[in-house]
Amino acid sequence: MKTLNGKAVFGGIARGPLYYHRQDETTVSKRTVSDTKAELERYELAREQATAELDDLYEQAISKVGENEASIFLIHKMLLSDDAFCKTIKRRIEMDCYSADYAVALTARDFAMTFTKMTSDYFKGRATDIKDVSDRLIRHIQDKQQKTIELHEKVILCADDLYPSETMQLDLSNVLGIVTCYGSTNSHTSILARTMNIPAIIGVGAGDLSSMHGRSAVLDGFNGRLFVEPDEETSRQLDTIEEEEAKKKELLKRFKGRKNVTLDGTEIEVFANIGGMKDIANVHENDAGGVGLFRSEFLFLGRSSMPDEEEQFYNYRQVLEQMKGKTVIIRTMDAGADKNISYFGLAKEANPALGVRSIRLCLMRPEMFKTQLRALLRASMYGKLAIMLPLIVDMEEIHRAKALIEEAKTQLRARSQPFREDIKIGIMIETPAAAILSDELAQEVDFFSIGTNDLEQYVMAVDRQNLLLENYFEEKTHRALLRFMAMVCDNAHRFGIPVGVCGELGADLNLTEEFLKMGIDEISVSPSLVLPLRQRIRAIKLDERKQLKGQKRF
Ligand code: PEP
Ligand code: MG
Repeated sequence: MKTLNGKAVFGGIARGPLYYHRQDETTVSKRTVSDTKAELERYELAREQATAELDDLYEQAISKVGENEASIFLIHKMLLSDDAFCKTIKRRIEMDCYSADYAVALTARDFAMTFTKMTSDYFKGRATDIKDVSDRLIRHIQDKQQKTIELHEKVILCADDLYPSETMQLDLSNVLGIVTCYGSTNSHTSILARTMNIPAIIGVGAGDLSSMHGRSAVLDGFNGRLFVEPDEETSRQLDTIEEEEAKKKELLKRFKGRKNVTLDGTEIEVFANIGGMKDIANVHENDAGGVGLFRSEFLFLGRSSMPDEEEQFYNYRQVLEQMKGKTVIIRTMDAGADKNISYFGLAKEANPALGVRSIRLCLMRPEMFKTQLRALLRASMYGKLAIMLPLIVDMEEIHRAKALIEEAKTQLRARSQPFREDIKIGIMIETPAAAILSDELAQEVDFFSIGTNDLEQYVMAVDRQNLLLENYFEEKTHRALLRFMAMVCDNAHRFGIPVGVCGELGADLNLTEEFLKMGIDEISVSPSLVLPLRQRIRAIKLDERKQLKGQKRF
């Protein structure tokens, strides 16, 4: 038996043969050229091709692993157009007369080295991103295809390191677990393994994984260990760990069918966030009380033209029918910024997060918006629909959106197509402007849902896509956000409307008590986090003063 120790990334025990994947080695030899102009053109063309490829990967990844994890490809795009990176490459071609691939390889090596020397795990992880993106660039310069990982049986995949793009393209049905020699827990490969629920460990050190190809092994993702050909005693211990973890999971199932109620009787709703029909089974499996956020823009992504009214209607109707009368909050299209939809032909903007996106885009394109609204209204006949408007900053936007909803209703009446009259209209509170004006806005809508992802980005003035600033989204920095949220809650309740949370922070169990104390009425999280959140709520005891608030219903 041989034991390798690393860092745990995602829990679980995986048993099976090891499959060693040797990453593509881009071989680049030192070469000089006489026609530097032609070489620069070669580099620019490869850069354009690599950028287009990353756009494709991003679109595919969104439907596979969700927007957050897919954003690695946006980061890679940023690296490709990074000023310092590009200038250094061009200088090496123009001044040193190096070939394009050699200039890229040399520059990438220097940049990666800078990151590797840093002490933080996070920055070490970025060295892999630089290698990934520069290899892609070199492949295009050399006109070579990327090698994909072809697995023909269920294996524990091991490699020196894995690029996020390799992980993203894996055939998951054959991946029992992942082990890498290097990497960091913050690397995107780690993030992806967690999202895809694959037991994984990283950083088992430089070694002989390649020589272990084909040998049987057990991966302990809970404790970060890999046992190659484990002896009987170790196998028994691993069986025990597995049984205990399964029991914990089973215990969690006991919370199915229970209320989300604190020890002193305060009850709130726990809903689930979805991207489409495919997530509904998971919503039921985890016993969510409703859908707190259906990101409707996901229907528009990863395709070359807009879904028409019928296609949208079909999707919304399916979700409503399958939720069998439980609340389904469908957010109107929240495109733009990081969720770029190419067929909208949006102009390039210096600050897309502050640009033509979301409700702004819909109000600029009323016909497109009304198409979605008609589809939503028609679908309302099949369940309990609530419509939610994203990125609101003032009352006028609400008035304009409501006027378009009325126009859509008039059109449906003319067509004799039915819709329900009692559909609730709410807004997301995800801009500081909406939070500040929440007392006024609460008088115009039926509910609020706080989008902590964007609200935090705008409150902190920190780009949520910028991995270098990730630490701004950690616990200590939530103070300003929490004060804002408490104010929004008070304003909502003053005017008798409920308020939910649908950003990622809703799943932070360290904040659940704080949310309950401020009077949040509903929290919406990824389906698999519904039961852990219910368990947490049921262990909380609030003080008397807070219990008096009284709950508003969605
Ligand atoms: C948010 O901003 O918190 C939110 C839920 O919306 P999205 O993450 O889709 O922008
Ligand atoms: Mg948002």
